[in-house]
Amino acid sequence: MYNSPQRCDDNKTGGAPTLVVDVAVIGGGPAGIMAAIAAADEGADVLLCEQLPRIGVKLQATGGGRCNITNTLPNDEFMERFGRFGRYAQPALTRFGQDTLREFLQSIRVSTHAPDGLHVFPVTHQASTVVQALATHLHAKGIRIHCGARPRRLTLKQGSLVGIETKTSSFRSRHVVIATGGRSHVALGATGDGYELARQAGHTITDTWPAMVPLITAQTWPARCRADTVPKAEISVDLPGMRKCRGVGDLIFTRTGLAGPVVLDFSRHIPPLLREYGTVPLRLCLTGTPHADTWHSRLQFGQREEPGTPVAHYLKRTMAPSLAEVMCELTPLPGHTPLGQLARAPRRMLAEVLAQTPIDVTDTGGFGKAMITRGGVTLKEVAPETLQSKYLPGLFFAGEVLDLDGPCGGFNLQWAFASGYLAGQCAGRQSMEK
Ligand SMILES: Cc1cc2nc3c(=O)[nH]c(=O)nc-3n(C[C@H](O)[C@H](O)[C@H](O)COP(=O)(O)OP(=O)(O)OC[C@H]3O[C@@H](n4cnc5c(N)ncnc54)[C@H](O)[C@@H]3O)c2cc1C
Repeated sequence: MYNSPQRCDDNKTGGAPTLVVDVAVIGGGPAGIMAAIAAADEGADVLLCEQLPRIGVKLQATGGGRCNITNTLPNDEFMERFGRFGRYAQPALTRFGQDTLREFLQSIRVSTHAPDGLHVFPVTHQASTVVQALATHLHAKGIRIHCGARPRRLTLKQGSLVGIETKTSSFRSRHVVIATGGRSHVALGATGDGYELARQAGHTITDTWPAMVPLITAQTWPARCRADTVPKAEISVDLPGMRKCRGVGDLIFTRTGLAGPVVLDFSRHIPPLLREYGTVPLRLCLTGTPHADTWHSRLQFGQREEPGTPVAHYLKRTMAPSLAEVMCELTPLPGHTPLGQLARAPRRMLAEVLAQTPIDVTDTGGFGKAMITRGGVTLKEVAPETLQSKYLPGLFFAGEVLDLDGPCGGFNLQWAFASGYLAGQCAGRQSMEK
C-alpha cells in the first residue's frame, strides 16, 4: 500500500552528499512537480528539491482549499488576460493547455469539472485530491524527491552549469529547472530564492510587487460595512491618464479596507502607483448606477413622492443598511434628514457619492497577503519555446518565478502547470540527447 504520499525522502541515495541526476528541479509547487513529471517522461533521472517538509503546500491552499486549477477560455483569450506579455505563454499552452491539463489529471484519477462553465475545479472540490494524486504519480515515476532541501546556488564550472548546492549538500546535474515561485505567502513556501539563482546566471529581475492582494484604505468606514458583499462593483483609479484602469466584480469590505475578486484582480495596478503617488485615489461604484445624473433624478423623484422619508431609509431599499449610512456620512448629511428637506447642493453631492464613491488606498496587504507576485525573471532573457535561459544553457525556468502573472480564475495555476511541463520536457529531452 502506498504510504503517506506527501512525505518525502530520498530512498535511493540514503542521504549521500553528491547525487548525479539528468535533471534537477528546484521547487515542489505545481510548476516544479509538472517539470519533474515531464522530464521523467522523456526518460530522464529526475531529482525534485523542495525546501518545505512537503510538496504542493501552496497548491493545497489554492482556491480556498478548492483549487481553481484552470478555466475553459480558449488560448487566445486566456493569454489576453495576462496583459501585454501574455503571448509569451503560447508555446507552453500549445503543448499543455487547459484540455491537456485536464486529460493529464484524469489520467492520474483526478476528475475535474467547471460548475459555472468557466472555472475548473477537481470534482471533489478539494485541492488535497490534486496534491495527493501528483505525489503518487511522482513516486510511481521513480522521481527522487528531497524535501527540506533548499538549493540556493548553482554550481558552475568554467561558465557551464554542472549542478546545484544547498548549505549541506550538492547535486550534480547539467539540467536544472528553477520553479521556486515568487515572494508571496512565506508560510506557503515563498522564498524569493529563484531570483538569486537567476541572478547568478546573469539574469535580470524586474521589480517584484504583491499582486492579487487586499487594499488598505485611509478611510475607516469599510470596517463598518464588513458584513456586506457588493456584487458587480466597479472600481477605477482616479488619477490623470488612468481612466482605462478599471475592474468590475464582487467587492468585500474588510477591517482595513477592500478585498474580494474585483479588488484582487485590480490590485496588480496599485503598488507601482503607490510608489509614485504615495496614496492612490479610487472611485467605487457600489450602487450599480455609475452616473450621478441618474441618482440625482432618483433623489428628486423620492423628494416629490415621499418627502417625509429619511434619506438613509430611502437608500436602504437599494443597498445594504451600513452602506446607506456611510453614503450619507460622506456627503456629509445626517441620515435622518427627510428627503423633502434635501437642498440642491447636498442632493447633488449625495448623487455624486452614490454614483462614484471616493476612497484612498494607502497600502496593500503586502507579500504576506498577496496571492501572487508580479515581476520576476525577465521574459526576454528566457526563450518562450523552451523556457531555457538565453545566458546559461541547461538552465530552465517555470511558473511564478518568471515575470508573468494572470488574474484570478485558474490562470496562474494553468500557467504554472503549462510552463512546468514545457521546461521539464525540454530539459529532459536535452539531457537524453547528450
Ligand atoms: C492562498 C492562495 C490561493 C491561490 N488560489 C489560486 C487558484 O485557485 N487558482 C490559481 O490559478 N492560482 C491560485 N493561486 C496562485 C497559485 O497558487 C500560484 O500562482 C502557483 O502556485 C505558482 O506555482 P509555482 O509552482 O510557480 O510556485 P509555488 O506554488 O509557490 O511553488 C514553489 C515551491 O518552491 C519551493 N521553494 C522555494 N524556494 C526553494 C528553494 N530554494 N529550494 C527548494 N524549494 C524552494 C517553495 O517551498 C514552493 O513549494 C493562489 C495563491 C495563493 C497564495
